Amino acid sequence: MKNKSTICVHSGSLEDTQFKGAVSPVFPSTAYAYEGTDITRYPRYFNIPNQRAVEKKMAQLENTEEALSFSSGIAALMTVFLSFLRTGDHIILQEAIYGGTYDAVLKEFERFNIEVSFCKGNAMEIAAEIKDNTRVIFIETPSNPLLELTDIEAVASLAKEKNIISVIDNTFASPINQNPHDLGIDIVVHSGTKYLGGHSDICCGVATMTEEHKEVVKETGIHFGGSLDARTAALLERSLKTLEIRIERQNKNALTLAQALEKEPWIKNVYYPGLPSHPQHSLAKKQMSGFGGMLSFDVAIDPTRFTSQLRLIKAVVSLGGVESTISSPVKTSHARVDITEREKMGITPALLRLSVGIENADDLINDLKEAAN
Ligand SMILES: *Cc1c(COP(=O)(O)O)cnc(C)c1O
Repeated sequence: MKNKSTICVHSGSLEDTQFKGAVSPVFPSTAYAYEGTDITRYPRYFNIPNQRAVEKKMAQLENTEEALSFSSGIAALMTVFLSFLRTGDHIILQEAIYGGTYDAVLKEFERFNIEVSFCKGNAMEIAAEIKDNTRVIFIETPSNPLLELTDIEAVASLAKEKNIISVIDNTFASPINQNPHDLGIDIVVHSGTKYLGGHSDICCGVATMTEEHKEVVKETGIHFGGSLDARTAALLERSLKTLEIRIERQNKNALTLAQALEKEPWIKNVYYPGLPSHPQHSLAKKQMSGFGGMLSFDVAIDPTRFTSQLRLIKAVVSLGGVESTISSPVKTSHARVDITEREKMGITPALLRLSVGIENADDLINDLKEAAN
């Protein structure tokens, strides 16, 4: 299977040998026979049927050999990091990343004596941070909330040259819009809670990689215990069947909204990689096959009043659902970041982040315009 739409629907599906049903059966068992079987199955060992089904689909969608499913995006990220880091090692992270990842690394790695450096998401600044003990480089693109891009291929080749593991958070793009393994990245991580799940009702994470890396990550993953339960794995498999059509609609809607919002007098800046006005639009065209459903903008009106007047678009945390949602980064994802630090990054109270859903684009534009009045 080569085409993503077909992979989404069919890859990894489990056969219902008992009743010949059309879809994967759900196997909730946590206890499996150990005699006469060539593998000891147990949920925490990442090897029960519904985990394997969704992992196979994700590995194919990211165009690599293997995948592991986790109980959250952070479980996936922390397990991947700690699989390759030991006491005395060093990790370099892009500074503009998901707040939860930033916090987790900053607060947890000190106790293991793992050195942490944050820098701008470009190969030159990352290269300047590399030391003899650097083991992992981590990037996230497009970034939250300003949709800045990191040149994936440049960072991947730098890491390869220095024999460092490269890890990317591909949550915002999804495997439909961006496939970092094709650009040389070792490990791709998703918060499945967002686009992969797509309906704002499951919490999960996925990491994709080669068979060889999987053996390493699985070993640590078994010890940290962040595996995904069978029922959620089955829901994730179901969600992924519609991933491509959801993302295609979200790409289209987001571009339509970004173009419309750019013309509104009450909006100062629109940040969307698909707009020719985006400073990295040419990089976006080079490394993304679609520009995604996330955009942000600065308003010249009272942002709190504006979001409270929206009827269709919900002001909630999180993103990636079929329903459009909006959030204020200073009140949510970046609430704990120091104010001067925040303003330096360009994140002010005027900034709003929109996760565009699959609704009718005109209805969404009208909702935004009416709320601004
Ligand atoms: C939500 C999110 C995470 C964390 O995922 P959880 O499923 O909440 O643990 C990591 N990275 C990005 C970009 C996210 O949006």
